[in-house]
Amino acid sequence: MSNYKLGLEYAQQQDQNDNLSAYRDQFHIPKDNHGNELIYMTGNSLGLQPKITKSYINQELEDWANLGVEGHTEGKNPWLHYHEFLTETMASIVGAKPLEVVVMNSLTANLHFMMVSFYKPTPKRYKILIEADAFPSDKYAVESQLRHHGYDDKDGLILWKAREGEELANYDDLETILKQQGDEIALVMIGGVNYYTGQFFDLKRITQLGHSYGCMVGFDCAHGAGNVPLNLHDSGADFAVWCSYKYLNSGPGSLSGAFVHERHAYRKDLNRFTGWWSHNKTTRFRMRDDFDQLPGAEGWQLSNPPILSMAAIRASLDVFAAAGFDKLCQKSKQLTGYFEFLLNQLDNSDIKIITPSNPDERGCQLSIQVKNADKSLHTKLTEAGIITDWREPDVIRCAPVPLYNSFKDVYGFVERLKTILN
Ligand SMILES: *Cc1c(COP(=O)(O)O)cnc(C)c1O
Repeated sequence: MSNYKLGLEYAQQQDQNDNLSAYRDQFHIPKDNHGNELIYMTGNSLGLQPKITKSYINQELEDWANLGVEGHTEGKNPWLHYHEFLTETMASIVGAKPLEVVVMNSLTANLHFMMVSFYKPTPKRYKILIEADAFPSDKYAVESQLRHHGYDDKDGLILWKAREGEELANYDDLETILKQQGDEIALVMIGGVNYYTGQFFDLKRITQLGHSYGCMVGFDCAHGAGNVPLNLHDSGADFAVWCSYKYLNSGPGSLSGAFVHERHAYRKDLNRFTGWWSHNKTTRFRMRDDFDQLPGAEGWQLSNPPILSMAAIRASLDVFAAAGFDKLCQKSKQLTGYFEFLLNQLDNSDIKIITPSNPDERGCQLSIQVKNADKSLHTKLTEAGIITDWREPDVIRCAPVPLYNSFKDVYGFVERLKTILN
């Protein structure tokens, strides 16, 4: 894996040897005004559209047109059960049991719903620990939970910060925080893969640590789902949430996934917000029964879900299932390792990779820190036909996605970057 080579020929050879390379053709690759394919490196932000997605959505549009309300039961894929079609593949991608996973709502909403159950502050133990550069929505969500329960959001929020002069969070520091304040912390809520640095945290280690101090532990895996093996069940985390529009290629704003560990599956004492979709499926339509909690993650649903969005998720999950997530993860390590190799060969002090160099501590994303926060580099990349994203204050995030990015994409990216830097 470490004998990467320079030159276009090597990249082409790698693509030829890659038995997943044909999947690129199953996606719409955005083009420039002249019809040339762009080098798309932002699957971490919005995954590309599988070509089969349209037909999956059309199927539901047709059933709606032809059957109206009967589509709930008579459609080709009856809407009443539609979310169940997603569960198995989604569960296998995040390393969970089907009982532990449901697709519902959107991401930040699910984070709140999980906190309704797993953030149970008491006057002695009410604080929430997050990583210092958590995704803003997560930070705003936990701050508002603190306020909602009557606590001060400055006093109640503990940040796990990288050390002075370092970019990555250090586990020793997490241990120190817990040693000093663990008995005041109700919830540890970490981004499974940090959106900014690309650091893939050790979920099991964090969970064990949090639990040993009596804290609940949850993860926002928006940047992990479909990108890295999360092994949520084995991590022991109490809950996790993620979105489906980043690495899971399910379309802008598409639905979110939620994981609730099996040990909570049958608990009726956990407080939660409920609706008719959290009620026993077999008696749901009797309408006048008293509430009867559905077991497992499904018991956190509230509403009948948007089928058109779920159809896009279903299409994408079928692509994942065909390719095989383990194989994708293997290719991902090679592709990103190659990307890192080429960037390091540039040996240019204007850029620095801040993502962990250990392949087990990252997914496919590399975050390139730009000297003096010079945003013009990002603009020039865009002008050169490369789609990346700039994240304030000073990082360009680039994610070669194993499903549709090629070694040639990576080669082309670094060649154009080299020209720009010189
Ligand atoms: C993308 C992302 C979000 C976005 O939240 P939405 O509710 O889907 O808008 C939130 N948190 C993290 C960690 C993310 O990566």
